[in-house]
Amino acid sequence: MASSTVPGSCLCGAVRFEIELPTRACVHCHCSMCRRGHGAGYVTWFVVPRERFRLKSEPGVLRQYTSSDHGMRSFCGTCGSSLFCESSRHPDDIDIVLANMQAPIDLEPQLHVYYSDRIDWMPVDEALPRLGGSSGVEPLD
Ligand SMILES: [Zn+2]
Ligand SMILES: [Zn+2]
Repeated sequence: MASSTVPGSCLCGAVRFEIELPTRACVHCHCSMCRRGHGAGYVTWFVVPRERFRLKSEPGVLRQYTSSDHGMRSFCGTCGSSLFCESSRHPDDIDIVLANMQAPIDLEPQLHVYYSDRIDWMPVDEALPRLGGSSGVEPLD
C-alpha cells in the first residue's frame, strides 16, 4: 500500500518536514515573486491543510521573509532553499514547493496561476487551464 505520509527537505537537509495526503491543490505559479525567489521560470506549489503538515527540524533553522501584505515565505537559513508560503488569504493551508518532496504526492499540476505575469523564455503545459489578471486567479481561457 502506498504511504500516505510524504517526506520533504531543503537542499542541505537542515529543514525536514512531512505531509499527510491528500493534498488540496497543485499549481504552477508564474508570479514575479516566485520567479525571483527561486531563480526559475515558474514554480510548482501544492497546498495542504496545516493539520496535515509537520515540521521536523530544529527551531531557528527555518527563516521567514514577508513578501507581500498577505504572504510570508520560508526558506532554509543554511542553504537558502525556498520551501513554504503562508497567506492570510487562506490561513488554514500551507503552500509547499513540490520540488522539495522526496516522493510523489497524490496530485499532478492542475492549472497555471498568475499566468499574465509569465515570462516567455520557458515553455509551459498549454493543456492546463490558465488563471491570471490582476488577482492572478481570474480565468483567462
Ligand atoms: Zn537547507
Ligand atoms: Zn508565485
